[in-house]
Amino acid sequence: MTGIVIDAEKCVGCRQCERACASAGIVVENRTARVTESCTLCGACVDACPVGTVELVRGSAAARAEDLGTWRNVWVYCQLDASGAPLSVAFELLGRGRELADARGENLVALLAGTPAPGSAEALIAAGADEVLLCEDGRLDRVDASLEAELVAHLAQDLRPEIILYGATAFGRELAPQVAVRLETGLTADCTVLEINPETGLLEQTRPAFGGNLMATITCPAHRPQMATVRPGIFSAPAADPARRGQVTRIAPVAREPRVRIVEKASARSGPSIAEAERLVVLGRGIGSKKSLPLMRRLAELLDAEIGCTRPLVEAGWLEYPHQVGQTGVAVAPKLLVSIGVSGAIQHLAGIGGAETVIAINEDPEAPIFSAARYGAVGDCIEIVSALVEQLEKSTR
Ligand SMILES: Cc1cc2nc3c(=O)[nH]c(=O)nc-3n(C[C@H](O)[C@H](O)[C@H](O)COP(=O)(O)OP(=O)(O)OC[C@H]3O[C@@H](n4cnc5c(N)ncnc54)[C@H](O)[C@@H]3O)c2cc1C
Repeated sequence: MTGIVIDAEKCVGCRQCERACASAGIVVENRTARVTESCTLCGACVDACPVGTVELVRGSAAARAEDLGTWRNVWVYCQLDASGAPLSVAFELLGRGRELADARGENLVALLAGTPAPGSAEALIAAGADEVLLCEDGRLDRVDASLEAELVAHLAQDLRPEIILYGATAFGRELAPQVAVRLETGLTADCTVLEINPETGLLEQTRPAFGGNLMATITCPAHRPQMATVRPGIFSAPAADPARRGQVTRIAPVAREPRVRIVEKASARSGPSIAEAERLVVLGRGIGSKKSLPLMRRLAELLDAEIGCTRPLVEAGWLEYPHQVGQTGVAVAPKLLVSIGVSGAIQHLAGIGGAETVIAINEDPEAPIFSAARYGAVGDCIEIVSALVEQLEKSTR
């Protein structure tokens, strides 16, 4: 594995390395530098050393071309919520991971670390995992991503997974790159499509690129594991099959203490997130003006739905950013999504791929949103929504 190597004979004990390190990853004792378990491999000490004593050695973690075939199985890192239950994105990734593992004739492995609630491992097996690697250790409760990265990287080195998938949550975005650095492999962030190329066997990782104006398909042909993050709501979670059987393998706790301590938790927004909504009414510029919002809100109320919107509505100040659906907003996966006056730009569609049934209302029959919709209504959205509201009000009286 990559590491910091110190030539003790050359070290003059000047402490430049210690001063340059932001994480107490190197200390000088008895006039000799020593690497601690807090080292993040950032290399600041290497640059700071005036006598060339400290070296960042790139080791054997990287898969070599000749041993690529020895990396097998698909892993899904299953993040837990505050109550210890796996996040919904973990189940969504297991659903897609199952298909990838089947395409490769391999096992699907769920990685569970921290303090999982009772029944979590069984739930992951019911969602498609063949095996759960379980590291029950309260120090891994999403406090210090570097600690968890150490665990995942060590496990990956030993067990050699071919693919690792992570949810692109705030924590997943911190964790996955740190694992990638430790294993010297690639990472594709915010994938919207994951597929196995039947000829090469490689994981094709597709994501919006160049400001979302095209979709890029990325592969990692020369390193293992192939790693990707996927935002919540991009894939659908599979139906649980309680009859499925799998193995739970316990992993030893990690050796060191976390360097991060949570002092206080503050919520940026109260109220339910549209990412979790079962029904959504998504509004676009076609609603004409802010004055149409009460009508749209009434429809949402009658459908028991949350409100989402396109980016221009946030930019215009009609709705706040947490309502924005899309590549730079929230990825949603409702059972029902009613899209009103939305053109269906690629950056918007990137956020609604997980929706089960899309009904689109747009006056332009050529609008791209219709390609993502199961049902469509062509016409003026104010007229159509007014009629809908009237009907729904009649039926609920
Ligand atoms: C880097 C980048 C990231 C982006 N991220 C996002 C993102 O996360 N989410 C997002 O939504 N966008 C995002 N965008 C913007 C995106 O490209 C589109 O500009 C945006 O989605 C368009 O919003 P819209 O459909 O509301 O508006 P428009 O494209 O203007 O479409 C309005 C639609 O309403 C229809 N319409 C007009 N009047 C009526 C009427 N009376 N009745 C019925 N239909 C009517 C029109 O036919 C049209 O199809 C991003 C852009 C970039 C460059």
